[in-house]
Amino acid sequence: MNETFLVRTFGCQMNKHDSERVTGLLCAAGMRPVTEASEADVVVFMTCCVREHADERLRGQVASLKSIKAKRPGGQTVVIGGCIGQRDGALLLKQLPHVDVVFGTHNLSHLPSLLESARIERHSVVEILDATGEFTSDLPGEREHSWHAWVPVMVGCDNFCSYCIVPYVRGRERSRVFEEVVAECERLADDGVLEVTLLGQNVNSYGRDLYGEPRFAELLNAVARTGIARVRFATSHPKDLSDSTIAAMAGHPQIARALHLPVQSGSDRILKAMNRDYTSTHYLKLVDRLYATMPDLALSTDIIVGFPGESEDDFADTLGVVNKARFDQAFTFIYSPRQGTAAADMDAQVPEDVVHDRFDRLVAAVQNCALDKNRKLVGTVQRVLFTGASKRDASVLAGRTEGNKVVHVRLPEDRDADDYAGRFADVAIEEARIWSLTGYILQDIGVKRSG
Ligand code: SF4
Repeated sequence: MNETFLVRTFGCQMNKHDSERVTGLLCAAGMRPVTEASEADVVVFMTCCVREHADERLRGQVASLKSIKAKRPGGQTVVIGGCIGQRDGALLLKQLPHVDVVFGTHNLSHLPSLLESARIERHSVVEILDATGEFTSDLPGEREHSWHAWVPVMVGCDNFCSYCIVPYVRGRERSRVFEEVVAECERLADDGVLEVTLLGQNVNSYGRDLYGEPRFAELLNAVARTGIARVRFATSHPKDLSDSTIAAMAGHPQIARALHLPVQSGSDRILKAMNRDYTSTHYLKLVDRLYATMPDLALSTDIIVGFPGESEDDFADTLGVVNKARFDQAFTFIYSPRQGTAAADMDAQVPEDVVHDRFDRLVAAVQNCALDKNRKLVGTVQRVLFTGASKRDASVLAGRTEGNKVVHVRLPEDRDADDYAGRFADVAIEEARIWSLTGYILQDIGVKRSG
């Protein structure tokens, strides 16, 4: 019988994509995916060290495999890959001795041979490589959903924001060849994929390393013409978002009117300490330009609360930006020092009770904006790509609008939610909540390739 494996993913979209590639590699090696750790001969953790929480969850989950490994007749091979593997390497074996293989962010393609070495040598194997100049894009992948694909266009980051570990674990920016990205999207369109998300730590700088200047707007224009119905991208840096990228978004109905533009703080003093290289005025001018060009744009952001030295005035500036930018969604984080970053050594860490109080006020402000934006959609018709049954209620269908908002619709009688997964429908919006909309299907569009 085929060997079995389970991949558990922590962290960002790039990690989700890496997990699809790990799944593809292991399937190509003749292995079979399972959903329970107790049934898996191999468990692979694709890890993230951007947030402390993911770091802690990983260690808890790996530790919990110890008893499963001891009980299974054939044992179990435990693998840690991704950012924490890259950062901690052999140190992980000291902390978690039942781990068999550790690999990093630059040698994902070596996983099958590392598993083989661990098996033959009967001891743990660690392989961490420094960033290579190459972009390994030709690995097999197993998409989680047939209608959606992650398409990496660049990896790494040159920005060195003072709180961020990414440049150290993912390396400097490396872009994929333009024609290769477009050809992949054409293949995906032929394969029935309806939505792609172009991925990069800083997609706006796509191409700078290869072509001497960013070519992201050009790439968007080309991908919009491949036959993919809905194109998303993440993540954008405010200092690099160009007018040509905004024009590309506005110029193609296939490019979703949704933009994730992390502001991180509204205080110029804190932005400087974060090494973000823009001011709140620059950010808000960008937001004005975006709404002037696309009044229906859904704007989301990331915000860190409690960065070292953040005063009440700095925090008030952040609340000011939230209210002016009218975010549809904001991922809010309490600052946690990441070992190895510049901010980890900064003085004036903000007391925990102060940070929590600010965090609560920020969440309330964000929720107000989100509800306000969603209420404006009541009475409109939104094109929704359904993903299947809602996680909470099997009689309700869930999907996402162009603006990436969750929409719930009652499942028509005698129909299966799976019939709708991966289909577009026009939905009349009747009710708005903070993080979701409710409505009814006006017209089932089915599998449609454009508009
Ligand atoms: S832009 Fe800053 S926050 Fe984003 S990945 Fe690069 S260093 Fe990290």
